[in-house]
Amino acid sequence: MTHCPSDPTPAAQQPGRLYVVATPIGNLGDISLRAIQTLSSVDLIACEDTRHTKKLCRHLNITTPLVSYFREREQEKATALLKLLCEGKQIALVSDAGTPAICDPGAVLVNKARAAGIDIVAIAGPSALAAALSIAGLPLADFFFGGFLPASATARKQLFNTLAPLPYPLIFYEAPHRIRASLADMAATLGDRQALLFRELTKIHEECLEGPLSVLHEKVKDRVKGELVLIVHGAACQPPPPEDLDDLLRWYRDEQHSSLKQAVVRIAADLDLPRSQVYKKALAVWQEIVPRTGAGPNNPY
Ligand code: SAM
Repeated sequence: MTHCPSDPTPAAQQPGRLYVVATPIGNLGDISLRAIQTLSSVDLIACEDTRHTKKLCRHLNITTPLVSYFREREQEKATALLKLLCEGKQIALVSDAGTPAICDPGAVLVNKARAAGIDIVAIAGPSALAAALSIAGLPLADFFFGGFLPASATARKQLFNTLAPLPYPLIFYEAPHRIRASLADMAATLGDRQALLFRELTKIHEECLEGPLSVLHEKVKDRVKGELVLIVHGAACQPPPPEDLDDLLRWYRDEQHSSLKQAVVRIAADLDLPRSQVYKKALAVWQEIVPRTGAGPNNPY
């Protein structure tokens, strides 16, 4: 039973369905079979930028008509699309890339459709958030996703001060021309936490920079290009002070679930110590939990 706002659906006419379809964030090979089937079979595809989606459709040999649905006129566009759904049209909603309604238009139409009793189906797929998280190797299930960082430095610092005590990783989308300033503001307000900066996920020049915020700030200089996801470790994920090497090794072992080798490589690099020196300590720390059995591991250093 639908509750369409005007021109109620005649009893005999089936209302349409709204499909919210994820599309690739770079690599076109990431389109799902369900996404292709849906985009091919609906009456209409509502998209952020018809020129952009036309390219995707051309690549997939899809000839479904396109109609624009973008942030600046989202209310008005959603009302028009709802009318079509009430008349029985099957509509797919896509954004330029990734999952609609995640830092993209979509929520207004979804809410209107739900309020009208229209079926809404998620055609799940790529999202930069999920892609970055999936290869971040974070030990915790919890995280905070903040979407795009504010453009003004004052608003950014206020936000970081609010988020500073959170014990879980903080994840943001950021534009390349602002990333240096954001990294500097973060280091100043959150401390020099470990972070991961993912660039151009799923594309040819995909890369991940990892290290303390100050090191990332140094590395990105002014030349960073492409699309970015930044993950900053939470307050509880901070390593103990470097003075106590044993505690630091235990933190890598227990909190980060690092292997002995990973911990040695990271600590030696961060503290500029010889690997052999850290390895000797690490062996003792790891043997606290692994009882000695005859021959120990060969010292690779
Ligand atoms: N709805 C999209 C999603 O599900 O990921 C996000 C859209 S938002 C307008 C675009 C932002 O997502 C970019 O500025 C960037 O921060 C991030 N992003 C999108 N594609 C990316 C990629 N291939 N690599 C890294 N970040 C990406």
